[in-house]
Parts: sequence; structure tokens; C-alpha cells
Amino acid sequence: MSLYGAVEAGGTKFVVAVGETPEEPREVARIATSNDPCETVAEVVRYFEQHGPVKALGVATFGPVSFETGCITTTPKLAWQNFPLRASFRDALRVPVALDTDVNGAALGEARWGAGRGVDDLVYVTVGTGIGGGALSGGRLVHGLMHSEMGHLLVRRAPGELPDFRGVCPFHGDCLEGMASGPSIEARWGRPAAELPTDHEAWQLEADYLAQACVNMACVLSPRVVVLGGGVMEQRHLLELVRARAEQLCNAYLPLPLIEAPQLRYPGLTGALALAKEAIG
Ligand code: ADP
Ligand code: ZN
Repeated sequence: MSLYGAVEAGGTKFVVAVGETPEEPREVARIATSNDPCETVAEVVRYFEQHGPVKALGVATFGPVSFETGCITTTPKLAWQNFPLRASFRDALRVPVALDTDVNGAALGEARWGAGRGVDDLVYVTVGTGIGGGALSGGRLVHGLMHSEMGHLLVRRAPGELPDFRGVCPFHGDCLEGMASGPSIEARWGRPAAELPTDHEAWQLEADYLAQACVNMACVLSPRVVVLGGGVMEQRHLLELVRARAEQLCNAYLPLPLIEAPQLRYPGLTGALALAKEAIG
């Protein structure tokens, strides 16, 4: 048996899987994220001892993360700050470990096997408790000084925005995450996003911010497909509103990417398996 291992590392849970090919994460399991990173890593390692052995591991993680050191960097989860995630797995499992962001993993998964099958230029955005985005450009995941932080794109106020609403991002207030994450919707309307009816004015505002993000991505990266995932996008009617608003904002200046829902059950895990495979060429 020749298995790859995958970890999608999140602030509340680590989702783990094995697979012979990236298309099919198997034995998917969830491990709660402990305040003590060593404890979480030990549990993940136990999982791979039981379900492996694996010949390489792909890790798609929350961030920010440094690809040079393989460490989580400035997370508000204090014990995780500067934690050497990549080295911990490498030392315990003694296999190659490839590390990327959760959203870069999801972008890779959706580009290879999901909503953008066969496409080399794709952006994946998750709209949930926070907003994050990852990009595949020319077939490569985008890295730079660090990695994309699309949740903190600066956006302009949507028409009809409540005049007193300042946004919820602790760093910037009214960036994309501040204005369009799940918690921002709840803060603005005093009710969880999932409880707002589909004809609530919240959704036109939400569509405006997400459409601004899509147009900005089109301007910077020229992706063929933008995939919008995460809890807020469970509002199925939202996708069409975003597409329509993006067309308006773009004003026929440039061709817009397709704006799609994710097609994979586990975009991040699928991408992590692909990273594992690439780790050993
Ligand atoms: P996380 O970002 O924490 O990994 P999710 O992607 O599930 O997790 O996002 C959680 C956020 O999505 C919460 O803010 C929640 O209010 C919002 N959310 C979850 N389900 C829905 C829904 N059906 N409609 C609108 N918002 C939702
Ligand atoms: Zn911000």
C-alpha cells in the first residue's frame, strides 16, 4: 500500500485523511485543536501511525505561516505563535512534509479536481468566521513575501451600508473580512447570518463586498475561475447576486472569471494530498 497523508489544520479542528491518490481522501477524521500544539500534533501523529504508514504528508494550515521556517507566525492563539508545525510532523513521521495555507490547498484541490478542473489560474476564497483566499497562478500556488491575505483586501462601502457600521476586523475595521465575514453580518444585523431570510437587505450588501473582491482579483491575478466557499456561502442564492454585482462593477471593461461554488467535499484535504504527492515529486 502506498499512501499519502493529509492534514487541514484549523483554529478549532484538524481534519486528517489518507489517500492513494489526491482525488479521494479516505478515513477522514477530526481532531480538536488543543491550546497546546504539541498535544494536537501528537494526536495527528497517532492517527497516521494507525492509518498509515504514509510516504509523505501535505499540510494545509491556518496562518499566517512562514514557508521559510514552516512555523505558524502571528496567530492570536498564543501557544501556537511561532510553533514549528512542519518540523514537528517531519521529526515525528520521518517523511517529506509539504506545508501551505489552507486556502492555497483548497485552490489546488478545486483547480485539479473540482470547480476549475484542469484550470491553471484559480482563486479560492472562504467566507466564514474569517475570510481567506489562496491562488493558483500559471499552475503554481502563489507565494511571495509570505502568502496571499485576501481577507484583508480594502473595500469601499457598499451602496446602502449602515452609516454607523465600522466593520469587525480587529486590525483594519472595514476591510473585506471586517465587512463580509459571518461575524460581520451578525454584528451588523444582530442575528446570525444563517437566520436572515433570503430577501433580507443583508445579502445585497454581502454580494457587493464579495463582488468587489472578485473584481479586484480579476484585476490583479486574472484567474479563470474564482471559487467561493465557507459557511456564509451556504446561502445558495448569494452566488448569483455576487455574479450579477461583479458584472456591474466591472462595467464590461475586462472579462470576468467564472464565479463558482466549490465542487469538492474536502477541497483543503484534497489539496493537501496533492501537496504530499508533489513533496516526493
Ligand atoms: P470557519 O470559517 O470557522 O472555518 P465556516 O466556514 O463554517 O467555519 O464559517 C462559519 C461562519 O459562517 C459563521 O460566522 C456562520 O455565521 C456562518 N454561517 C454558517 N452557516 C451559514 C448559513 N447557512 N448561512 C449563512 N451563514 C452561515
Ligand atoms: Zn482586516
